[in-house]
Amino acid sequence: MPEQAAEALGQGHQTLAERLSAVQTAIRESCLSAGRDPSEVTLIPVTKFHGPELVADLVDLGVRRFAESRHPEARDKAAALADRADLEWHFVGQIQTKKARQIAQYVDAVHSIDRGGLVDALSSIERAHPLRVFVQVNMTPDPARGGVQPAELEALVEQVLRTESLDLQGLMCVAPLGEEPRAAFAELRALGQRIRPLAPSATALSMGMSNDFAEAIENGATHLRIGAAITGKRPERT
Ligand SMILES: *Cc1c(COP(=O)(O)O)cnc(C)c1O
Repeated sequence: MPEQAAEALGQGHQTLAERLSAVQTAIRESCLSAGRDPSEVTLIPVTKFHGPELVADLVDLGVRRFAESRHPEARDKAAALADRADLEWHFVGQIQTKKARQIAQYVDAVHSIDRGGLVDALSSIERAHPLRVFVQVNMTPDPARGGVQPAELEALVEQVLRTESLDLQGLMCVAPLGEEPRAAFAELRALGQRIRPLAPSATALSMGMSNDFAEAIENGATHLRIGAAITGKRPERT
């Protein structure tokens, strides 16, 4: 991890503005050392478990995209911030089929498309623009971890491509807990190549969190979902 990222996670940066700025600097440095253009990488701060006040503070600092992982918490926050112009909400958590249509009413993108039943549920949504989606791939054999198994990836991608209400951006993963993350990120990049003939424009890779975004950038990440390094320690859930 670059020094800046380590600092952002430690005690060096106490205010939200300082932590955000340290993460942005660390992302730029990681891009440069990986020979990548920083403009290829989109930072999406994850604000789950934090209140709308923290989101408002980030808006004041220039952030326009936010990721959330739970409904209805995400819906309530989006509603509380509805008077702020041009915010984008990304849903990154597991989605219950019966909640899918509600979630699609207030988000701009879903990173956690992991099964055909969810695609079916989203096929009849009514929106001004198609919902941007990422197919989440499970990098572990544990089905509880969320994501489609790599062997089933093409079938799910084809189903998304047939669904007019959805606009496939690319793939998403969470690196397996407690393992060196590079192998998983390299594998997601390879899976992105594997679906290229089916979905030539779905080139995005949503991968990299507070503790592993440098490794994700090295392996081609285009969307970073970073929570704690920016927001500080998450409040206890109530
Ligand atoms: C919480 C969460 C993140 C951010 O995790 P941090 O370790 O706080 O950066 C990213 N992706 C998903 C799917 C999450 O649930």
